[in-house]
Amino acid sequence: MTAKLIKGDEVANKVRMEISAELKDLYEKTDQVPGLAVVIVGENPASLSYVINKEKQSKKLGFNSEVYRLPADASEEKILKVIQQLNEDDKIHGFMVQLPLPEHVDEKVIIDAIDPEKDAEGTHPINMGKLFSDEKGYPACTAYSIMQMIEFTRQPVYGKTAVLIGRSNIVGKPLSLLLLRRNASISICHSYTNDLPEICREADILISASGKPELVRGDWVKPGAIVIDVGVTPVGDKLTGDVAFEEVKEIAGWVSPVPGGVGPITITMLMKNTLEAAELAVGFRNQGVVGFDLAGEEGGYPPKKHIDAFQYIKEKNFHITIHAGEAFGKESIWQAIQICGAHRIGHATRLIEDMVFDKNGNIIALGELAQYILDTRLPLEICLLSNVHTGAVDKIENHPFIKLYKSKFRVFLNTDDRLMSDTTLTKEYLTASELFGINLDDIEKLNINAMKSSFLKHTERLEYIYKIIKPGYQKMRENLLSLKI
Ligand code: NAP
Repeated sequence: MTAKLIKGDEVANKVRMEISAELKDLYEKTDQVPGLAVVIVGENPASLSYVINKEKQSKKLGFNSEVYRLPADASEEKILKVIQQLNEDDKIHGFMVQLPLPEHVDEKVIIDAIDPEKDAEGTHPINMGKLFSDEKGYPACTAYSIMQMIEFTRQPVYGKTAVLIGRSNIVGKPLSLLLLRRNASISICHSYTNDLPEICREADILISASGKPELVRGDWVKPGAIVIDVGVTPVGDKLTGDVAFEEVKEIAGWVSPVPGGVGPITITMLMKNTLEAAELAVGFRNQGVVGFDLAGEEGGYPPKKHIDAFQYIKEKNFHITIHAGEAFGKESIWQAIQICGAHRIGHATRLIEDMVFDKNGNIIALGELAQYILDTRLPLEICLLSNVHTGAVDKIENHPFIKLYKSKFRVFLNTDDRLMSDTTLTKEYLTASELFGINLDDIEKLNINAMKSSFLKHTERLEYIYKIIKPGYQKMRENLLSLKI
């Protein structure tokens, strides 16, 4: 066997450890216990055992877990009443209705009635729409689980070709959007797709969710590919996946087994969505942003002080913008990301140390940090003239801004007027435009795009865009016009 196994239990354990630490933190600071409820209608044995398992796991992690059992002949109205009650229950932060439902009940009516902010399974149309428009919402649990498996391999996703077999609302469609967010190129295949084996052979990441046992053969797989088998179909007394495991394990770089693959992770992701809903309900991760300048030893800040500060930021649950022009370069950026996360990176001149370029300025290799930043679309907030002023860049012509911009990093110009180096957004823009040939509309788009990284609610974010960023750019257009006159 050449492929490494992606075992669902290992992936789920890793996520459960993160949930457990976060839950403890939430409880200690706010007295809140996240509440997860499941509604089950009828006595379908597979559904019942799944629900019992969910309850067991969530109780073990410290959730307030509730199960609402209704008889198979419960009316749609009765189920809707229970949903209404859960929507209004402050102790319940996330819940789901176990599918399939009896035939007399319209599943769509039931799912639509769930409050999208408590939609732990991420299947409500509002959460689907948020995924589509790149907003923060709850992703469908199965698709979210598959992303955790890909993450577990620690292989880059950026620029890879991903082929998905299956276009259902719970797997193929949401997964395609999650992968797109990570800058993969996607093909979605289904039962009408021509030359499926040929398309699959192109895949660096191949995910099959067709429910057709052993559909994916060894010679469909590109050597070294990541293969994730979502299908679960009973064949005789066994559960069989979509992938001919014995053949594929000799070709792929990574493969997930069935059983023991995606299944164990989905319950964990249900809890992760619920925990996040609980945190949002008490505003737990919304404690403001710390701008953190990674000053160097000359300012009395040895690396240990940075680490102490990162620990403190983590403890307080602040969000952080790192300014990493000087100090200890890319190591400090990595430490900040790993210890307390970061929602944007200022200056970012040091990031260039983690990239290799050819003589035309095109990237030929990225280090782990640069790859991570590119994959996760962390915005890089650049101050061209200030960087020269502080010595982070020797001269403006050598500023890495354009290399980062061309390499699809999410760079944008710092919108502050910076007193220290006597620069303004207009001056910054003129430099970017004269030196690097960038136009104002593109820069405005980059700034607005960078707002997506903020932790503000969608409505507040729009308010900033329309009340601050756009008028700021309008003013700059006027300034530029008066400069020309
Ligand atoms: P679904 O709604 O039935 O969708 C199946 C998809 O596969 C459809 O898009 C279908 O195409 C496509 N398909 C079927 N046969 C194909 C073929 N021969 N070639 C190419 N495409 C084909 O199923 P689902 O709910 O997404 O579930 C899919 C599988 O994943 C099932 O085995 C299910 O049990 C399993 N699953 C597992 C988990 C887990 O936690 N492990 C969670 C969810 C689902 P059309 O659209 O053209 O019909």
